[in-house]
Amino acid sequence: MNLVFLGPPGSGKGTQAKVICKELGILHLSTGDLLREGVKNGTDLGTQAKKYMEAGELVPDKLIVDLIEEKLASGALNNGYILDGFPRTVPQAEALRDMLAKNKSQIDKAILLDVSNDEVIKRLSGRFFCPNCSSGYNYPAQMPKQEGICDNDGVELQRRPDDEEDVVKNRLEVYIMQTSPIIDFYRQASLLFEVPAEGALKEITNALLKVIKED
Ligand code: AMP
Repeated sequence: MNLVFLGPPGSGKGTQAKVICKELGILHLSTGDLLREGVKNGTDLGTQAKKYMEAGELVPDKLIVDLIEEKLASGALNNGYILDGFPRTVPQAEALRDMLAKNKSQIDKAILLDVSNDEVIKRLSGRFFCPNCSSGYNYPAQMPKQEGICDNDGVELQRRPDDEEDVVKNRLEVYIMQTSPIIDFYRQASLLFEVPAEGALKEITNALLKVIKED
């Protein structure tokens, strides 16, 4: 099962992809997570990506497409996956289609997590993560047992720097201008499925699984 999760920042792509990949035994590939890891470890890619990420801009297509090409060549994607945060532009979606075709593979479904603008802003302002184990929390829907502390390892929770209000505004604009055209790209390829993604986490997971498992 080769899936793409689409939706604005804060639509729950990462949270849902983690749960669903565990359930289906497939790989969760988040380009945002890979880039943040690169920034943390000071890799070449991380160093090049940092300034774009801090401004809420997209990292140039070539860097991201090379990263995905590397993953494909390594065989890491051979047993099914959810792509979360990639593709993010029409050229990235085209490059993905062409790279997969070379390997006689393809995307099975692109699933759009449908969330209103107001809900996205609310979620991003309540989003926290553990810098040690990467567990995610969202106030008030997903609170840790002790406020500000990770349930898994007791480490103090942080906010992503690009979740601050001024950067969020730009990320949403970038989503509308550069990323939302890929919704039509997948619609035209008859691969697009839409799932309402507001409400209880578990209900959204079930709705996504239903769409994923449907013929
Ligand atoms: P995310 O965690 O998916 O919200 O991504 C965080 C940031 O990483 C984005 O705001 C971009 O700066 C960068 N990024 C992640 N994925 C991509 C992509 N496919 N294309 C370009 N930039 C990306």
